[in-house]
Amino acid sequence: MSNEKVKCAFVSGGSRGIGREIVTKLVAAGYCVTFTYKTSVSEAREVHELHGDAILPIQCDVADRDSIGNAIDQHIQHFGRLDLLINNAGINRDCAFKKMSWEDWTVVVDTNLSSVFNHCQRAMEYLLESEGSIVNIASVSGVIGVPGQVNYAASKSGITGLTRALAKEYASRGVNINVLAPGFIKTDMTDKMPEITRERIIETIPMDRFGSVSEIANIAVFLGSKSCKYMTGQVIPVDGGLST
Ligand code: NAP
Repeated sequence: MSNEKVKCAFVSGGSRGIGREIVTKLVAAGYCVTFTYKTSVSEAREVHELHGDAILPIQCDVADRDSIGNAIDQHIQHFGRLDLLINNAGINRDCAFKKMSWEDWTVVVDTNLSSVFNHCQRAMEYLLESEGSIVNIASVSGVIGVPGQVNYAASKSGITGLTRALAKEYASRGVNINVLAPGFIKTDMTDKMPEITRERIIETIPMDRFGSVSEIANIAVFLGSKSCKYMTGQVIPVDGGLST
């Protein structure tokens, strides 16, 4: 399918949680969307069935550079252009620093941070053609630090450094790049926390609650829109006041 007029987006990790809601809102805003997933085949099928031809799901491991390259190539073959890249896929492997294994470190850094480098590098030629945008999903953890998340916090603050440098490199060439840093959001990632941990976290959030996927997806779509074209290299916290 070749698309001269319709805007096309690529979202990593769009089968569940925040990414799935971003995909839904992008389709509602008129985009054609490719999204990736690694293992959640039935959830990916559900998203495809909901949105039909506007959607291209691709199984891909974002920790693998070639897998990302393949997915971007498939997106271009299918939709013909790329206007917006949203780097959303991410994982956590929380544990005390002393017990954190090298594998806990590398899998989180490869999946959360190296993936952003690889997506941006493989997609940049198409974003230059469209004068497109990149939105990188980081985390409040990379801003304030959360105990038990040394690997995750490092990967997320790495995203902000990468974004600031890349934004300056491409600012004069029409591609703008920003970070959205969510606080604690109700998804599978936070549902797996023990109830007592969730309660303790809520006590630290000025708004007294976790955010919803919709509250993050709205801002992600806005940051990727033409309305935000004069903004680049910025980190936008959406965290109920937690990092204030
Ligand atoms: P989630 O519900 O666990 O969903 C993660 C998504 O990423 C799924 O679609 C998953 O697909 C995909 N994914 C994970 N590893 C992948 C891999 N190696 N290759 C391809 N896809 C992969 O997570 P979420 O809570 O929506 O989080 C989305 C993003 O927001 C992450 O970057 C996370 O760090 C960030 N964030 C979340 C919170 C929060 O409180 N939830 C707070 C701050 C930041 P599969 O299931 O198929 O692997």
